[in-house]
Amino acid sequence: MFTGILINKDESGYRASCEQIDEALLPEGEVTVRIDWSSLNYKDGLAITGQGPVVRRFPMVPGIDFAGTVSDSRDPAWQVGDKVVLNGWGVGEIHWGGLAQQARVRGEWLVPLPAAFSARQAMAIGTAGYTAMLCVQALERHGIAPDSGDILVTGANGGVGSVAIALLAKLGYTVVASTGRPSEAAYLKTLGASAIIDRNELSAPGKPLGKERWAGAVDTVGSHTLANVCAGIRYRGAVAACGLAQGMDFPASVAPFILRGVTLYGIDSVMAPQPVRREAWERLGRNLDPARLEAITHEIGLSEAIATAGQLMQGRVRGRVVVDVNR
Ligand code: NDP
Repeated sequence: MFTGILINKDESGYRASCEQIDEALLPEGEVTVRIDWSSLNYKDGLAITGQGPVVRRFPMVPGIDFAGTVSDSRDPAWQVGDKVVLNGWGVGEIHWGGLAQQARVRGEWLVPLPAAFSARQAMAIGTAGYTAMLCVQALERHGIAPDSGDILVTGANGGVGSVAIALLAKLGYTVVASTGRPSEAAYLKTLGASAIIDRNELSAPGKPLGKERWAGAVDTVGSHTLANVCAGIRYRGAVAACGLAQGMDFPASVAPFILRGVTLYGIDSVMAPQPVRREAWERLGRNLDPARLEAITHEIGLSEAIATAGQLMQGRVRGRVVVDVNR
């Protein structure tokens, strides 16, 4: 038996609880992992609270990422004792995930724990931080350099936003943080933000084109915010869009794209191929300041994950939440 969060949906409704689970129920997979740390991402919040249609098979162990140690392997690429990390691939959605003491997964989904990090640090980064790196890499590949101009990060206090600010600042960019919690300005400046704007400036329907304000942007919010961000990007700038915290809609016009040559990059972390993942983790090892990572991180035990998921959905959680699955 092992301890895990289990989500059920039946005639008595949708509910998540912390339970003892029989190992015999672990899903198919070549590699069994003893999990050390998991984390809480926005998608886990949607899954645990049932506020979004994330879970597509029941019962489901949520948790879209984990770091742990291989305890059994039928995949020659992985040996017992190997330290591994997993993000995405539908884990915690259609395949049992990381908010538990054990997981069984496909060997090809795993990446080695980067040498730069402990398992706890890897989960402090988690899917949110790895997605932030994918966004930063998209802007870099576009040719946006620290001297190109200001970079906007929306959803600044969230997991993706916090790590994006820390990464961009470390790389020498000037970062403008958009947040609904201006009371957290000091925290955002500690991470490396140079200026803070109120997210209300961006969240209502806006004009097709606005003043050219930012060379690039990382958007975790979607909806009108993403439309207004695109309208405020400088000539030939770019936006890396990864999130939908405001909404999944995109009520924009083509004006920024056809009149200012703005590029909109879509960022997906879930199905990203292995070389992309490994490069992103390697870059995180080089470019994320461990002290800033610790400042972003809040630790909870597995038994607190359900309550914290509710707080995450209410926008009351700052930065990243790591989950000690063994307490
Ligand atoms: P968090 O919950 O940690 O952060 C989301 C932040 O968005 C909040 O802290 C808040 O920041 C802001 N926000 C919340 N509600 C609203 C709203 N109604 N309008 C505007 N801003 C809002 O989530 P994550 O950082 O983990 O994820 C951010 C987004 O990125 C999510 O939509 C998630 O699904 C997506 N994502 C996508 C991935 C991909 O592969 N494409 C991978 C990982 C995440 P503040 O208080 O500062 O305003």
